[in-house]
Amino acid sequence: MCLFCEIINGNIPSTKVFEDEMIYAFKDINPVAPVHFLVVPKEHIDSVNGIHAENSKYVSHIFEKIPEIAKSQGIESYRIINNCGSDAGQTVMHLHFHVIGGTELGEKIL
Ligand code: 5GP
Ligand code: ZN
Repeated sequence: MCLFCEIINGNIPSTKVFEDEMIYAFKDINPVAPVHFLVVPKEHIDSVNGIHAENSKYVSHIFEKIPEIAKSQGIESYRIINNCGSDAGQTVMHLHFHVIGGTELGEKIL
């Protein structure tokens, strides 16, 4: 079972910031900003490359919930990052969106 599936199942501890029947959000263990949490689907999807018509509802649900989760963490301005694949820096092969904020964010790539 992958690392984030273990976190979702509670086999590996995490600091939960939100959970419902479809998604789990928790603080990144190595935050790059005062607020840095990850939002993941409860169904294992490897990466953006694994999204298809039958599971894209998890992705839309994640984006429906991000504003509310961000607000609960005290931020209304934030950056959402997804790394897809190893060249892009994806280290955990379970789809996740980084939500980062709580300070003026630095250099943009684009
Ligand atoms: P990626 O590099 O795949 O886009 O992001 C993976 C993220 O998962 C990294 O920011 C890393 O800090 C975080 N991470 C890795 N292992 C753990 C863990 O065991 N617990 C938590 N909360 N975050 C983790
Ligand atoms: Zn997984």
